Amino acid sequence: MSGQRIAVVGAGVIGLSTAHELAAAGHDVTVLAELDPLDTTSAVAGAIWFPYAAERSAAVDAMLASTLARCTAIAGDHPEAGVDLRSGVIIERSAEPDRSWTAWAHATEADASALPPGATGMRTTVPLATMSLYLPWLRDRCAALGVRFERRAIHDPDALAGGFDAAVVAAGVRSGALLGDDTTVVPIRGQVVRIENPGVEEFVIDDDEGDAITYLLPRRDCLVLGGTHEVGATSLEPDPAIEAGILERCARLVPVVAGRRILSRAVGLRPWRPTLRVEPVPGRALPIVAAYGHGGSGMTLSWGTAERVAALLDAPPAQERS
Ligand SMILES: Cc1cc2nc3c(=O)[nH]c(=O)nc-3n(C[C@H](O)[C@H](O)[C@H](O)COP(=O)(O)OP(=O)(O)OC[C@H]3O[C@@H](n4cnc5c(N)ncnc54)[C@H](O)[C@@H]3O)c2cc1C
Repeated sequence: MSGQRIAVVGAGVIGLSTAHELAAAGHDVTVLAELDPLDTTSAVAGAIWFPYAAERSAAVDAMLASTLARCTAIAGDHPEAGVDLRSGVIIERSAEPDRSWTAWAHATEADASALPPGATGMRTTVPLATMSLYLPWLRDRCAALGVRFERRAIHDPDALAGGFDAAVVAAGVRSGALLGDDTTVVPIRGQVVRIENPGVEEFVIDDDEGDAITYLLPRRDCLVLGGTHEVGATSLEPDPAIEAGILERCARLVPVVAGRRILSRAVGLRPWRPTLRVEPVPGRALPIVAAYGHGGSGMTLSWGTAERVAALLDAPPAQERS
């Protein structure tokens, strides 16, 4: 069923990856988005391949694997995309840390000298995207495949019937309200501060330190320091007290970052949901596929999500199958 006119609502990493996949499959795709890619939550992301604050299940694990493979290929084949394979350490503070991600990413026990006292950790190499490069690259790739972009807010997805044969709702934290049938989306606020990189080449993630999450992610344009995990908080204003805490925790982990020049600050709302929603939405005026609820793993699940949406839209309608 290629050649359908498909509207993709949303121009974050999920909307763009999905638009790319649908256009590559031969569909006529238009992205409708209120915010441009660089103004989305996706632009705030670190953005490292690592499962965090999102559903884990066999279906989601398959998306983790395919996204890792696609991002690794992009890092090798398209240096201009801004995706690099970065080595670093995941610090673990609990007695039974979740190491399930090592099923896809090769990892070894980290040397104790790289860890805070009493902690364990894993050393690995995974893709990390400089979103200020990657999102525009993805947008350009979509455009080269014929995808059109319209900057506008959608208030009623059913109103897309007539103009389009099908639609995908990839509107991040606002998707549930837009569809009107889902109240389970919860924003998880994340704040970061971006500093001039004093030469840090490796990432560090320490997400087991009580309620705090601390990370240093070297992008090509800065060193991203984070972060927070504030369930239900919605303020998009950076909080100076929170920023001071981030700077202090990061300097404790990697002392060379202390006192470095701050380049920018950002806040994003992770679109968390108890389960990822990538499925047809029944009873609408046109076929609609939902693609949201990625929490803290939007980049990490992006290509797997896009492939799943494309498969759903290429499947013949139920009545034709019977
Ligand atoms: C601080 C922070 C760090 C993170 N780090 C990582 C990381 O390292 N790795 C990782 O995998 N993930 C990370 N994440 C999570 C990741 O950013 C999200 O999972 C991801 O951005 C979700 O992408 P999305 O495309 O669903 O939503 P968004 O990026 O929010 O995009 C939504 C799009 O929908 C549009 N839209 C919304 N409503 C409407 C409407 N009514 N009409 C038209 N358009 C609409 C918006 O304008 C926008 O274009 C992080 C998040 C934060 C906040």
